[in-house]
Amino acid sequence: MSKRVYMDYAATTFLREEVIEEMKPFLNEFFGNPSGIHEFARISKNAIEKAREMVAKALHCQRKEIFFTSGGTESNNWAIKGVAFANRKKGNHIITTKIEHHSVLYACKYLERHGFKVTYLDVEKDGRVSVNQLKKAMTDKTILVTIAFANNEIGTIQDIEKISELCHERNIIFHTDAIQAVGRVDISLDKYKFVNLLSISGHKIYGPKGIGILYIKEGTQIENYIHGGSQEKGRRSGTENVYGIVGIAKAMELVCMEVEKEDKRLTELRDYMIGTILKEISDSKINGSIVHRLNNNVNVCFQGIEDEGILLSLDLKGICASSGSSCNSGSINSSHVLQAIGISPIEAQGSVRFTLGKKTTKKEIDYVVSVLKEIVDRYRDASF
Ligand SMILES: *Cc1c(COP(=O)(O)O)cnc(C)c1O
Repeated sequence: MSKRVYMDYAATTFLREEVIEEMKPFLNEFFGNPSGIHEFARISKNAIEKAREMVAKALHCQRKEIFFTSGGTESNNWAIKGVAFANRKKGNHIITTKIEHHSVLYACKYLERHGFKVTYLDVEKDGRVSVNQLKKAMTDKTILVTIAFANNEIGTIQDIEKISELCHERNIIFHTDAIQAVGRVDISLDKYKFVNLLSISGHKIYGPKGIGILYIKEGTQIENYIHGGSQEKGRRSGTENVYGIVGIAKAMELVCMEVEKEDKRLTELRDYMIGTILKEISDSKINGSIVHRLNNNVNVCFQGIEDEGILLSLDLKGICASSGSSCNSGSINSSHVLQAIGISPIEAQGSVRFTLGKKTTKKEIDYVVSVLKEIVDRYRDASF
């Protein structure tokens, strides 16, 4: 096999044909500024409102609860800082976990420098948040809980239903970074009715980069984050990214429609890959929960080996994978997520993340596992 094998879908995805087709007219033909008052502007404006409708349908929520942003990072920053500043009269305490994406962790760190107190919850060995521990961490000063629906490194899925219900009972706003969960888990908001805010990113769901969504449940107290013009009902300024908005809406419609079918296919492939690795390669072990796990995540530790070496060798064979999280690649520090689930720095160094997606086949998995076996054997032989 000489072609490239892409197993880094948690880092980003390709643009689907259907999404490209939807976006095309807005790249050149219809470029009107949606804020204008002419026919040309109205075409863009209408496209945005149609997109909002599509997203609301896919998420089972109201149109007016959907806001378009510049991506997952902005959605998380807006949710966390916006809620914190809008509710600081009620309290200054925020709860999150030690395994959040950096766009959540560093937004919280920023708030700590501005008078807020943040609790970073430990997680269990399988990456799950203990609802009991969360309950204990809550005080009458707690205004916000932010916990990702599913982790981007080890794929652990949290009990969002229970967590959000607990927050609701305590009158605490709940935000979830659902960026890895969308399209892989059914996140319909009629099922998760106590979620106040939810973040989505276009490029993780076969849509464009640089576009995101923040769902804000009606009545949620939140301040604006980007100030300027009166776009998005005056709540998120800046000339709208019309083709991005049209693209993410189409991507949302498709992934939410296909979630069940894809779940069956990906779960089979993931379990096949995990099974084959554990059988073929000695001293290998899976990081994170086996049961509460995203259907496309294979995070595996090869004891006694360094991930940099494995990744470089995989790359030479045309295989794209990732060490822990793409944001961490190239840095010496081991992943904060692996550390939080009790993986030693040495073991974390031998950990590689493969994430599967639309184009992944069984044949690709067989190829990757055979190459992996070769690499791991070679490294282990060399080190004795
Ligand atoms: C990718 C990702 C983000 C950041 O989204 P961008 O659109 O790349 O800014 C945030 N959280 C999680 C869990 C992610 O996987």
